[in-house]
Amino acid sequence: MKNLVKTLGSVFLMSGACALLPGLVLAQERVVESASHRFVEVADGVWFATGSGSVYTMSNALVLVGEFDTLVVDSHVTPAASRALLDSLSVLTDKPVRYLVNSHYHFDHAHGNQSFPPGVEIIGHEYTRMKLSGADGSNVLDEATFHSFSDGVPATVERLEQRAAAETDPARKAELQENARVQRDYMNAIQEIRPTPPNITLDRKMTLFQVVANGSREIQLLHFGRAHTGGDVVIFLPKEKVVFTGDMMLPSLSYMGDAFVDEWPVTLEGLKTLDFETWLPGHGPVMHSRDPISNFQAYLRDLWTKTVAMHDRGVSVEQASEQIDMTNHSANFTQIREPGVDPRAIRRIYQLLDAR
Ligand SMILES: [Zn+2]
Repeated sequence: MKNLVKTLGSVFLMSGACALLPGLVLAQERVVESASHRFVEVADGVWFATGSGSVYTMSNALVLVGEFDTLVVDSHVTPAASRALLDSLSVLTDKPVRYLVNSHYHFDHAHGNQSFPPGVEIIGHEYTRMKLSGADGSNVLDEATFHSFSDGVPATVERLEQRAAAETDPARKAELQENARVQRDYMNAIQEIRPTPPNITLDRKMTLFQVVANGSREIQLLHFGRAHTGGDVVIFLPKEKVVFTGDMMLPSLSYMGDAFVDEWPVTLEGLKTLDFETWLPGHGPVMHSRDPISNFQAYLRDLWTKTVAMHDRGVSVEQASEQIDMTNHSANFTQIREPGVDPRAIRRIYQLLDAR
């Protein structure tokens, strides 16, 4: 089921899937491509945007096209990536972007904010504004999350360039050179980032009504509580039964370095109250099954319990990261192959415990 659902994210739908996933109107799904992006239309004027590889985007976006304007959710990892997204919108519409919504403050979803032209309203949770404006006294560019994902990029470029230079097969060599170019461009684009906060904020809920051909599209922005960050917002379209979950819910395990791991399963109960048939994650393919939500709740609760036990026994973060065994969840999360957990998750849980 999981693999089958994953294939729905890719372009051309197999007729066999229809029989196995009753209730899905697969025929609606159109795909349009630009030089940098692939857009899948999951409902009328509702486009799931993924980078196609020529520009490093790192995260997914959502584009809602109305009669007079366009709303974009998430701005990718750099100003260059979001410029590529904005340049690509012409393949979908000539309606100007009016709103950008940030699902949360993380670099890979919000560091493209500055590319949106003046006059575009940027909407996000109060917490997202706090983090991106530095109102809490911190600078997101100095934080562990940004560093832990970005500091290795120059080494990646160098490694790819060395492999390309050593490769003798012409096709493989060209592929490695292209990968190196994309990563080099990404490395340079990072220098350009100036964190740009939302200028409109919400706490629990905000609803927008976008004019569309047959009336108006209700767009709910909902914060169910702390989870992946302190300010996760899901974008829910009740009529289309579509929800964009950001990183609060992914098909795979989500990063936990800034998470409220103990509160996250409760927050996901809020997501479960929504009547949706399609969920669009911040990373990964279009999803339909709800099963991953309960599976992830179980993982989070189990990880919390196991980490608390290590913490209470005085085990160090490093040792706990190596020892905690989550392989009992490997059937649901295929990236779990052996004992051990991302140390950034364990460090975060210890931090939450020490703050109690
Ligand atoms: Zn994130």
